Parts: sequence; C-alpha cells; structure tokens
Amino acid sequence: MKATHAQIRKWMQASSIESRLDAFGNLIGRHSGALNGSQQADVFMIGSHLDTVVNAGRFDGPMGVMLGLGVAELIRESDIALPFDIDVVGFSEEEGVRFGFPFIGSLGISGQFDPGDLDRVDVKGVTMRQALADFGCDPDKFEADSYRSGSRGKVIGFMEAHLEQATRLEQSNSPVGIVTSIAGQTRGTIVIEGVAGHAGTVPHDQRRDALAGAAKLILDIEKLGQETPGLYATVGAITAKPSLSNVICGHVELMLDLRHELDEVRLKSLKTIDLMIRELSATRDLAARIHRADHSPAVPMDGALTRSLETSAGGAQSSVEMMVSGAGHDAMVMAKLAPSCMLFVRCRDGVSHHPDEFVAPEDIRVALEVMTNALIQISET
Ligand SMILES: [Zn+2]
Repeated sequence: MKATHAQIRKWMQASSIESRLDAFGNLIGRHSGALNGSQQADVFMIGSHLDTVVNAGRFDGPMGVMLGLGVAELIRESDIALPFDIDVVGFSEEEGVRFGFPFIGSLGISGQFDPGDLDRVDVKGVTMRQALADFGCDPDKFEADSYRSGSRGKVIGFMEAHLEQATRLEQSNSPVGIVTSIAGQTRGTIVIEGVAGHAGTVPHDQRRDALAGAAKLILDIEKLGQETPGLYATVGAITAKPSLSNVICGHVELMLDLRHELDEVRLKSLKTIDLMIRELSATRDLAARIHRADHSPAVPMDGALTRSLETSAGGAQSSVEMMVSGAGHDAMVMAKLAPSCMLFVRCRDGVSHHPDEFVAPEDIRVALEVMTNALIQISET
C-alpha cells in the first residue's frame, strides 16, 4: 500500500495535484477549482478504495481512484474553472481484509468511525491503532481529518466509479451503467436444534434430524429468492454438529444473507423465512429460530447527481442501464456525509475479486468522459 501511495502521489504531483495521507490511511489529492489556485470553500470528492482482497485483480478499487485522478487532470488540462475544489480520494481498507471490518477509510472521512474499533486486531495481534501509526497515521488527528468537521471544506458531493461485478452491462452492450441505490442487507444466523442419535438404530419416524430440516429450509429460501423479483436470498454457510457419518445431526447453524433494493421487500421476505422456520419446527419436531439478524438499510444515491450521470452517459451510449448495486461500496458510507452518486463500468464475464478481473481501456475512457461531463454539468447547476 505504501508503494501504491508513492506511485499515485507521483502521478498527482505531475498534474499539480497536492496530495496528503490522512489520519485514516486515505490518500487524498486536491485539485483547486479556481484557476488562480485560491482555496474554495466547497469540495466535490471523487474516488474509490485502494485496498483489495487476497489474490485479487487490478481493477476493484484502484480503477475508481485513477478515474478520479483522470477527471481532475482533464478539468485542469481543459482550463475549466469550477466553483469548488475536487478531492481525489483513495480510501483505505474498504474490503475489511486485515481487521475483518470494512470501510475504515470512508467511515473515517465521513465522521462515522468509532474509535473503539481501534482496538481490533489482525491475525498477528497488531491493533488497528498500531497499524495506523506504523503507516504514518495519527489516530489523535481523527477529528481534524473528518470532513464532517468542515475544516477541509464543505463536501457538496461524492462520485464513485467501480467495476460492475456482474454481467448486466455486458448483456446490454453498455460500457457504463448508473447506480440508483445500494441494496439493503440482512445477515442472520438460523439455529436448528434436533436430537442427535445413532444412524443405525433410530427409526426414521422417530428422528429429529436437524441437517435434513436444514436442507429443506435452504431450498425453500433459494426458491423465495427465485420467485421474488429483485431479491437475493442466500444461505452461504452451514455448521452441523456433531458432523459424523454415523450420527443423526442434532444441531445446525445456517448463515443467511438477504438483499433487496427496497427495505420493505427485504423485511417482508425475512418474515416469510420466519414462517418457513416455524413450519419446519412444527412438521419435523425441531426447535428452529433466527438467532440474530443485523440489518443495513438500502442507500439510495442522490437524485440530482444521479441524473447528471445519466444525462452524461446518455450522450456517450445509446441507452443507459439504471442499476441497483447488490454489493456494498464506499459511496454507501459517503452518502451519510454528502449527496453521493455512482457509476458501474462493464467488466469481463462479471469476474471480480480474482486475478482474471478485466475492464477494457475503451470502457474506462467512456467512464472518464461520462464522469467529467457530469461534473461540469453539476458545476453549472
Ligand atoms: Zn470494490
């Protein structure tokens, strides 16, 4: 990450963009809006994250940062005076790989970081506080480096470009699409209690098999996802105990992930799953329940900024896909600080978080044009 920062800072410097590392490990470059270089009160931020997952590709995250830098360079080269500064931001730790805790950079910048999380440790036992200090960051400067305090200017908007991570743009033959909202999500654990017993002696009509019950429930949840438009319903993990071939399973835990653009549909689906669980308990004599559910509501993108992106994209391609993001992004966190908007760029075969991840340079060029034109439109209105 240090090498990445050093490289991008060089590029920023070459474009007369002043760069700095903030207290949260974010890299920020400021392009002064007024041509005379005088400081402006308002700031428009463009960026994405610089970290990624293990064994990742080259685009998830950094492409959005480079596009931010590209927009700032184009604005400068074209001698366009803006009524605001542009801050190009490369967020730290969006994926949450090191501390099992995502969005550290954007939570920090937007003033939502809880200092209690500084005590989280990585696999080697290094605290987040220590890791930040080792990287040259000072947690005591959190307050000053949060844009919520206004000391860095008033943030009037945030724009993020990200690869799509799905195939809708490929299918519609569109280089870019516009994100209308980021789906809400419920993560929960379903616990199913049965009775463990001998696989060779307990007759079928007397079994209370938690694993067989879980199998039925998993398929029912999948069916709910298939039959409810826009719903993603996934059981992604299962723990069965005692997990032996000759023992009827007595205890199962399932990890549930539910996502939808509309919170009411997601919560209604959760109720339906709750009914399925009750029915399962009754018909199979099991004790099943949703043990714990964490909800994050859907985050709509800002209407006016999104319309600017849509208009701009309409000028670059014949039709514009308006899309819901099923994955979480920094824009979702930044939306709490300022009006936010997002565009997706087509990626090959929808592959991401993999070395084969690929976005065509021509598509990135379209994204650059769409973002720059949208920003000029925003500056005019
Ligand atoms: Zn990403």
